[in-house]
Amino acid sequence: MALILSEEEKMLKSSAKEFLAERAPVEALRRLRDSQDNYGYDRSLWREMAEMGWTALTIDEAYGGLGFGYVGLGQIMEECGRTLAASPMVSTALLGTTVISLGGSEAQKQSLLPEIMEGNMITALAFEEKNSHRPFDVSTTAEKSGEGYRISGKKVFVLDGHVADKLIVSAIADGELSLFIVDAKASGISIERKFMMDSRNAATVSLEGVEVKADDRVGGKDVLEKSLDIARICLSAEMVGSMQEAFDRTIAYLKERQQFGVPIGSFQALQHRAAHMFSEIELCKAMTLKCLQAIDKEDKHLAAKASMLKAKVGEVLKLVSNEGVQMFGGIGVTDDEEIGFFMKRARVAQQTFGDYNYHLDRFASINGF
Ligand SMILES: Cc1cc2nc3c(=O)[nH]c(=O)nc-3n(C[C@H](O)[C@H](O)[C@H](O)COP(=O)(O)OP(=O)(O)OC[C@H]3O[C@@H](n4cnc5c(N)ncnc54)[C@H](O)[C@@H]3O)c2cc1C
Repeated sequence: MALILSEEEKMLKSSAKEFLAERAPVEALRRLRDSQDNYGYDRSLWREMAEMGWTALTIDEAYGGLGFGYVGLGQIMEECGRTLAASPMVSTALLGTTVISLGGSEAQKQSLLPEIMEGNMITALAFEEKNSHRPFDVSTTAEKSGEGYRISGKKVFVLDGHVADKLIVSAIADGELSLFIVDAKASGISIERKFMMDSRNAATVSLEGVEVKADDRVGGKDVLEKSLDIARICLSAEMVGSMQEAFDRTIAYLKERQQFGVPIGSFQALQHRAAHMFSEIELCKAMTLKCLQAIDKEDKHLAAKASMLKAKVGEVLKLVSNEGVQMFGGIGVTDDEEIGFFMKRARVAQQTFGDYNYHLDRFASINGF
């Protein structure tokens, strides 16, 4: 498949770019952070995103979705990365729809997907239990209780956990890893909001004997693994948007900032560093589109591709966000300059769903090393 976007995908991307530049610039993230906003995102903005169809892109037409696919969602994510837009795109439009579409029963899909599409329901995948990404190392248990189960355990880094209506919780049930849809207000759940370095939401969720029905189950290990691979690829698209924006801002600064009577961008040492970043970013862009296409084509090597991409994009985003702050000089580390926001988001995104080391190791294992 050629590494180019269709006309519809290009239109989607340019409309997202225009919308986000106007409605969710970096300044909007700064305001959310400074006001310690209760939600951590703009709820009216989220409704507008839903009205534009962003929450319906990957949902099958049979459930009222657009069936547009993950290449489309990836374009929106990339534009979100350019303005660092804080919204439940990852927790809900990406993870929630994917887990329910892959593992949900007919009844779950019929009842939950339209609510997500309308922008009425926020979901949060509660699957991490350690400080580093170990999705299959699960201590949370779902013990049989009457017709259903009682879930007990503790989850960390639950993206949008404190604003979620439904939690999707991983637990060991009947000896195997299972996912359950749990009402966030159910008795036995306590949720503690945490602010991450990038000013976004990630809660700690404790569950004590939370009762669920047997038909609240929404798949097992395979669904979690495939959903995470899809999420890794779409998050990489967001990270590519961030690296491109940080790079563009840095290049503009190199052309503008005068030193010794000339723009600092005229010095070859800085040009070499810029050229290095440029070629790495182009590689990431091509890899990301290939991997987004692989999701839509149901590529059987998705796991290896997702790990290859997440490792590489994490590495390059680190380089570009560091170089941005460095080349801006002293002002780069001040809060007045927006370049630092890209570095903070980069650090969190690098860790989310597995960092460079995790994915390098996984890629090697998948390939038999
Ligand atoms: C927290 C903090 C603490 C500080 N503490 C001290 C301190 O204790 N003492 C002190 O003296 N200063 C201190 N500074 C100031 C700091 O050293 C300067 O900000 C730094 O030297 C960058 O200078 P600048 O802001 O003028 O950047 P610019 O001159 O705008 O430089 C921007 C970028 O271009 C690079 N560059 C500039 N000219 C060239 C060139 N000709 N060739 C190649 N690259 C070039 C710079 O290395 C930098 O990466 C501190 C700054 C901060 C943020």
